[in-house]
Amino acid sequence: MTKWVYSFGDGKAEGSASDRNLLGGKGANLAEMSNLGLPVPPGFTITTELCTAYYDNNRQYPSELSGEVDAALEHVGSLVGAKFGDTANPLLVSVRSGARASMPGMMDTVLNLGLNDETIGALAKLSGDERFALDSYRRFIQMYSDVVLGVDHYHFEEILETFKEDNELTLDTELTADNWKEIISHYKAAVERELGQPFPQDVRDQLWGAISAVFGSWRNDRADTYRRLHNIPESWGTAVNVQAMVFGNMGDTSATGVAFTRDPSTGAKEFYGEFLINAQGEDVVAGIRTPQNLTKQSRIEAGSNDPSMEEAMPEVFGQLVDIYKKLEGHYRDMQDIEFTVQQGKLWMLQTRNGKRTAKAALKIACDMVDEGLITSNEAVLRVEPGSLDQLLHPTLDPDAPRNVIATGLPASPGAASGAVVFTAEHAVECMQEGKRVILVRIETSPEDIHGMHAAEGILTTRGGMTSHAAVVARGMGRPCVSGAGTVRVDYAGKTFTVGGETVKEGDVITIDGSKGQVILGEVPTLQPELSGDFAKLMVWADEARRMKVRTNAETPADAETARKFGAEGIGLCRTEHMFFEAERIVAVREMILADEHDKASRKVALDKILPMQRKDFADLFEIMSGLPVTIRLLDPPLHEFLPQTDAEMDEVAAASGIDAAKLKQRAHELHEFNPMLGHRGCRLGISYPEIYEMQARAIFEASIAAAEKTGEPVTPEIMIPLVAMKQELDVLKARIVAVAGEVEKETGKKLNYLVGTMIELPRAALQAAQIAETAEFFSFGTNDLTQTTYGISRDDAAMFLKNYQDQGLIEQDPFVSLDPDGVGELVKIGVERGRATRSDIKLGICGEHGGDPESVRFCESVGLDYVSCSPYRVPIARLAAAQSALQV
Ligand code: PEP
Ligand code: MG
Repeated sequence: MTKWVYSFGDGKAEGSASDRNLLGGKGANLAEMSNLGLPVPPGFTITTELCTAYYDNNRQYPSELSGEVDAALEHVGSLVGAKFGDTANPLLVSVRSGARASMPGMMDTVLNLGLNDETIGALAKLSGDERFALDSYRRFIQMYSDVVLGVDHYHFEEILETFKEDNELTLDTELTADNWKEIISHYKAAVERELGQPFPQDVRDQLWGAISAVFGSWRNDRADTYRRLHNIPESWGTAVNVQAMVFGNMGDTSATGVAFTRDPSTGAKEFYGEFLINAQGEDVVAGIRTPQNLTKQSRIEAGSNDPSMEEAMPEVFGQLVDIYKKLEGHYRDMQDIEFTVQQGKLWMLQTRNGKRTAKAALKIACDMVDEGLITSNEAVLRVEPGSLDQLLHPTLDPDAPRNVIATGLPASPGAASGAVVFTAEHAVECMQEGKRVILVRIETSPEDIHGMHAAEGILTTRGGMTSHAAVVARGMGRPCVSGAGTVRVDYAGKTFTVGGETVKEGDVITIDGSKGQVILGEVPTLQPELSGDFAKLMVWADEARRMKVRTNAETPADAETARKFGAEGIGLCRTEHMFFEAERIVAVREMILADEHDKASRKVALDKILPMQRKDFADLFEIMSGLPVTIRLLDPPLHEFLPQTDAEMDEVAAASGIDAAKLKQRAHELHEFNPMLGHRGCRLGISYPEIYEMQARAIFEASIAAAEKTGEPVTPEIMIPLVAMKQELDVLKARIVAVAGEVEKETGKKLNYLVGTMIELPRAALQAAQIAETAEFFSFGTNDLTQTTYGISRDDAAMFLKNYQDQGLIEQDPFVSLDPDGVGELVKIGVERGRATRSDIKLGICGEHGGDPESVRFCESVGLDYVSCSPYRVPIARLAAAQSALQV
């Protein structure tokens, strides 16, 4: 029989850290901390398998579950000396979700569960503090009603605000027990009014309501959005953790806090965190009260007069320090911990590997290698390849003037400029119109996630470094300044004011998330320096990886950037991109519009282009000196080159001397209904071989020139696009070989070169064995291969694929992350059949997937020789390739 419930507490547990998939991250770590003998309030975890079973079975629980929960609850009660629902000594619990991957702010939590009109008296008596008991009860009613019963929290906030106004009170702490009693009766009345039934008094109803709410929230919209953005499969499910309550709000010897064992923003080896005295659970993360520092040092640095935990509670702080060191040593990774102090006694509520910026991830990984805690290979595995993107972002030019209008916390590094918007929806609209925006909010909540994603940066006026805005922005790699307290936001007026300055919606501001600055107007940025820890980790990654990493580049600037980022050659030079420059496009149009049989006119046009191409290729060969360069012959969807306007038509007419009306007629003939599947790629080469001959000549002549200049031999790889059958390649290769012969004869030089093909059509993958008889290398063009395998247009798919994702039909856009089942199967077939014919055939990928970490993993698994990606993704691909090699 399946075991659904796992207990922990009192120095032991039924699970451990290795049961993460079953118990979720939180549950597994609570079990592990119990096993380590740390002070963890006892409790139990209902497994993720139960979540899956619940959904598979039409939201019904298996019949044996309730017995298992009862037994576990009984056990918890026996450990703390209390009983669930007891009117003399009631057990109170928290109910929290905990998925396999942490999902901050996404799932719901209920605290103080087990309180009702009966048990409240016992809590008052046992704590000796009626006011505290009532405060706990009203929090429970509000939280439970909001999360479980769907009565929005503003109902309760309004009641409280009105009460305070009527009674001329400002702070919650000024409210007496009698005040709370009155408020509680208003709260209960509000619930009854909203739901038509009273707030549940039966503690078992409360518990099952909360459990179902957690399982239900696994599929709420916020969780769906988060999962989509972070590629978390729906099938994983969440666990539910039920745990005996401990109270951080039992007076001034109680507190609650969160901490990181190292600085999550910079990676510095400093205990880092925030706490609040006499506060409960979510008060710290919610960003409602501004928390105090943990260490004296950080308090002084922050210029705060509120005592740090080190000063206010030295003894407990000492215990916390011992525990964090133990946890970091045990997990051998930076930990993010939550704790509560109840009347001087420390309780650990959570530990997990802490989220961190890419900069911090690098520093922590490198430092831990130096400390002997992890190996260099482990360090390579510690940094998420995609997160390197954060380091590749520009920073503000330190010499540029900055009109700093406010400062807040440096919540997430990087810098961004954009127009001010005040709502998530508006941010999304602007993004869709191609505008760059900064989202300005008093504080953010999970409902704002899509807007945070759409914005270039985020500014909040409230909340600490662990507030929602800060945590989520760091995860997304968006710069964020949080808690800029001097900024006053007026949502209705669509403005914010600070120090006499009024900033309106649409005005441009810049935020520096590394310094916490808000700056009026746009500030110039600088490109990142990739030295120090970055360079160190890349060396380790390069030692660990098997696949080479090349770049897709056609301009000298891109090639230089890529080489600086460690590219080991060019995997794709799209020559059609070289044809768009103003002085060339006319010649290109002349060539295309020349009469089908007018080879001579085409030749005249091609002769104008030849020297330009020769120079292009020579530049690339020089920049990539000593490294392979793959040049793909012309592959334009024809329509991109056709003149559109009369003026463009006249321009071509003037250059070619052909009558404009005749040209128009020719353009009309060339019009295609489906250019992506039309006269492009090698089909163009078959129709007009002189185009490819010109390009081959330019390549060969450039290779000779570059070799002479650099002293390094150049072996160009000439690539034919969109091949579907061996015959196409045979014809075109013969032409290229003939040109090589001519150039050799003219120059007296021996040429070394390879002729290969893109594999970007299903037929080519299937015919790989035959094609490899002619092709000396394959490069998988997974953009077109995805388009043609799915039969969906790569240019139009975004619109409807979004619906597919929303409806859960696909988890990932197959143009972003390679579809391993269909497209991947074709790649695999291509690899196997190609190698069967030509065992030393060079195999690579040059579709956009070459820079996507998950796709790179796939490439390793099928044994490709290299991946090729855009310049800024080269470091990401290097790291992803290393991780794949280490994990295979
Ligand atoms: C491809 O199809 O994957 C490819 C790299 O070529 P392009 O994107 O230029 O069509
Ligand atoms: Mg292609």
